[in-house]
Amino acid sequence: QEAGVIFDVLVVGGGATGAGTALDAASRGLSVACVERGDFASETSSRSTKLIWAGIRYMGTATAALLSPKLWQHPVDTVHQFVGEMKMVWHCHVERRYMTSVNRHLCNWIPIAVPFNSWHISPPPMGHPLFGYFPFLAPVVFKFYDALSVFTCPPSYVLTKSRAQRDFPQLDPDGLKYAAVFYEAQHNDSRTNLAIAMTAAEKGAAIANYTEMVDLIHNEAGRVVGAVVLDRMTGKQWKVYAKKVVLAGGPFTDQLRSMEAGKIPPAVRGSAGTHIVLPGYFVPHNMGLLDCNTSDGRFLFILPWLGHTLIGTTDKKGPAETLQNPPEDEVVWLLKESQKFLRKDLKVRRSDVLSAWRGWRPLAVDPHATADSPVSRDHVISENPESGVIFIAGGKWTTWREMAQEVIDRVVGPSGPPSLTLDIPLHGAEGYENNLAIQLIQRYGMDTTVAEHLVKTYGGRAWEVCELMQPTGKAWPKFGNLLVEGFPYIDAEVLYATREYACTIEDVLSRRTRLAYLNRDAAVAAIEPVADILARELGWTAKAKEQQIQAARNYVESYSGR
Ligand SMILES: Cc1cc2nc3c(=O)[nH]c(=O)nc-3n(C[C@H](O)[C@H](O)[C@H](O)COP(=O)(O)OP(=O)(O)OC[C@H]3O[C@@H](n4cnc5c(N)ncnc54)[C@H](O)[C@@H]3O)c2cc1C
Repeated sequence: QEAGVIFDVLVVGGGATGAGTALDAASRGLSVACVERGDFASETSSRSTKLIWAGIRYMGTATAALLSPKLWQHPVDTVHQFVGEMKMVWHCHVERRYMTSVNRHLCNWIPIAVPFNSWHISPPPMGHPLFGYFPFLAPVVFKFYDALSVFTCPPSYVLTKSRAQRDFPQLDPDGLKYAAVFYEAQHNDSRTNLAIAMTAAEKGAAIANYTEMVDLIHNEAGRVVGAVVLDRMTGKQWKVYAKKVVLAGGPFTDQLRSMEAGKIPPAVRGSAGTHIVLPGYFVPHNMGLLDCNTSDGRFLFILPWLGHTLIGTTDKKGPAETLQNPPEDEVVWLLKESQKFLRKDLKVRRSDVLSAWRGWRPLAVDPHATADSPVSRDHVISENPESGVIFIAGGKWTTWREMAQEVIDRVVGPSGPPSLTLDIPLHGAEGYENNLAIQLIQRYGMDTTVAEHLVKTYGGRAWEVCELMQPTGKAWPKFGNLLVEGFPYIDAEVLYATREYACTIEDVLSRRTRLAYLNRDAAVAAIEPVADILARELGWTAKAKEQQIQAARNYVESYSGR
């Protein structure tokens, strides 16, 4: 930062919410800085279930609340709350449409089967007797869900028992009545986060990873006018001044707020969710499964993701941590529950777990809400009247754009420039087309799975990655040296990652590629080859390289594999 520069906005946190806020502000013409203490998406935003979902569960809980005794006891409040929840579902649909239409390179539709083994579920999902009859209601509910998306998603349908054996052969036919299938969008969360951050940078935001806010700067009147930040790669500290500071620290938001002067009431709690990753053969490559009534009433998704099976999630309140360390009892619970609808001869074993990881949902309340404030929605945007600092927390991946728009609306006020993000394609959208993988194969002579992976990961930018490839020296494939056998990741991606702000081996293994999330052992095997490329590219000394390797080993160790 040049001396004397005062940004319009300083955003602290480079997860989905913070990077989105930087993008919204920059695209409105504001000068914006965004600092992230780790890598982009290094916390919650890389550890989600990977669904851009339109809120089917909110629809259920809203209906359950509406059709309860509360309707007679407090009719106005109950109806008001129902309308609020349904509005939120509608907004989720708008956001899902934006992602699946404007950012096709980052998302795909995924059919999700909800199997039923009986015509009545007891105890009923969401604790409401009506949902005991969900096996009868599901096809109608899912059609209504389709309608909310103005039929822009592929249509929901019924999978009969015999068709299920063909389309979902892993489903146990014993006792199966049928499955109702609906669609959600799926993405690679850390790559989407990076695309948002890169787009913000393209729009003029000064955005930096490995830059931690270590203090807030107050003026004599107690107003916050900037922050002291620390470059975690060099140890250098400096001050960033801004007219408005927005804290987007996810589950760590209260730690950031504690740097404000005065008494700061807590506002954000963490709730941990563990996922496990198994080989891809537990589900069809193009269909997932939802158990909407697990033994403790939670939803459980079993989804195909990047050639593997992703299962999650658990839900346990507690303070957020940075290392994964998923508790063993949660891993075992997920394994046990996921067996419920699968064939008895298809055993889900502990030794099938290739990787396990954990993230913390930010659950927020507004500490500055007054009695007549509107009922708090899924996310909270709140301004400290004394310091002027705004924080934004809660919500979900799906609503990153909407949350960012709302917080910058608040910053600029009603007479400020409007948000433009609903029309902004994210990094990689340009040049993306359906047959891009074929073009890459024909141009470079590369493996189909590698070409498809590059297109799905980099969109139209896949050409730039390919330009960095070295010949394999083989008759086929001519280009595309694999980092580890059995995975489509190639060495050119490590080089390219340094142009996408990757600074450490862990960045490459966890968020530029998803190797650590898919298979811990494979990630360990890739540490040395990745270190060699990064050391050359980033000019590491032998000592720095050794430290990086050790740090990567420690980090990958925190994923739980077999
Ligand atoms: C298990 C699980 C599954 C989920 N599944 C889904 C799903 O399928 N679909 C969906 O829509 N949503 C899902 N969510 C919710 C979604 O992932 C989160 O709402 C979203 O990622 C939150 O993003 P965020 O930017 O607010 O927080 P984060 O991603 O945590 O970002 C906050 C950032 O602030 C940074 N930070 C903290 N302190 C400082 C500091 N001092 N200086 C600078 N930076 C700092 C952190 O390093 C972090 O990167 C899921 C959440 C969990 C936990």
